[in-house]
Amino acid sequence: MNYKKLFKEIETELEKIEDLGEVATYIPELHNVDPGKFAIHLTTIDNQHYSLGNSNDKFSIQSISKVFALTMAFNLEDEKLWERVGVEPSGTPFNSLVQLEYEKGFPRNPFINAGALVICDILISRLENPKQELLKLIRDLCGNPDIGYCSRISESERLTGHRNTALVNLMKSFGNIKNVVEDVLDFYFNLCSIEMNCKELAQAFLYLASHGVNPLTKERIVTASKAKRINAIMQLCGFYDEAGEFSFKVGLPGKSGVGGGIIAIHPGKYSIAVWSPKLNAKGNSYKGMRILEFLTTRTKSSIF
Ligand code: GLN
Repeated sequence: MNYKKLFKEIETELEKIEDLGEVATYIPELHNVDPGKFAIHLTTIDNQHYSLGNSNDKFSIQSISKVFALTMAFNLEDEKLWERVGVEPSGTPFNSLVQLEYEKGFPRNPFINAGALVICDILISRLENPKQELLKLIRDLCGNPDIGYCSRISESERLTGHRNTALVNLMKSFGNIKNVVEDVLDFYFNLCSIEMNCKELAQAFLYLASHGVNPLTKERIVTASKAKRINAIMQLCGFYDEAGEFSFKVGLPGKSGVGGGIIAIHPGKYSIAVWSPKLNAKGNSYKGMRILEFLTTRTKSSIF
């Protein structure tokens, strides 16, 4: 694959795309971003790097960090994890409450907010200092100690996180939250506040492109079977009620965040991070999806 040529084509394509999305406002602090920012960074499993735009600018990775939390919880709980959370697409928005009521507090998957809140509850029960351990995993994965939580974002979420508060309370009433509600929310809001740039993100997700081993350090992060399963959940649930559309158009396992970031993985080949803050109606980066669609179509390199 001639990635250099591909990135030249992406540059031309970008000029043709009208950015039709809107920056998220329901978390007020997320609005403090230049809507015109754009970055893309591709890292191959043999450590080649290709990027465009503001790929060294850090942004709020939001729900993308749910993949790191799942990775930790899956390692700690193995198959027991699935007694607390499912692996089915929800077909509902990320912060929806309806399904959770009639499915008795059992979230469909670890990437909708309800599922990620259960994962946070598990990590709080199992770890001495979950916030520190989560950061350690991410810092090790991308080989950069300069990764942290953003208190402005987590505080902004705490002040406006009424739906997340409702989700934890509803699950607690069904017995699927074991810790104090405030502690679960605190960890969740911090999880969502992590800031990274596209280069760091692409680097950090390489283990899912290479059967669970970080190809740069040769360290095993998860078993090959767990890597397969995490990728499968990303494929089916990474974009909430737009997971089908992302599979249809892009055709890679991936995960989005309301900060406008998207990570996508081509197992055996590369990981790619895109950032463009304006979101479509489903809360996924408008331009990010368009450019990934162009990339996999142009290179015939989706997994399908
Ligand atoms: N922090 C956001 C929330 O809880 C995460 C949502 C997302 O990125 N899809 O609403």
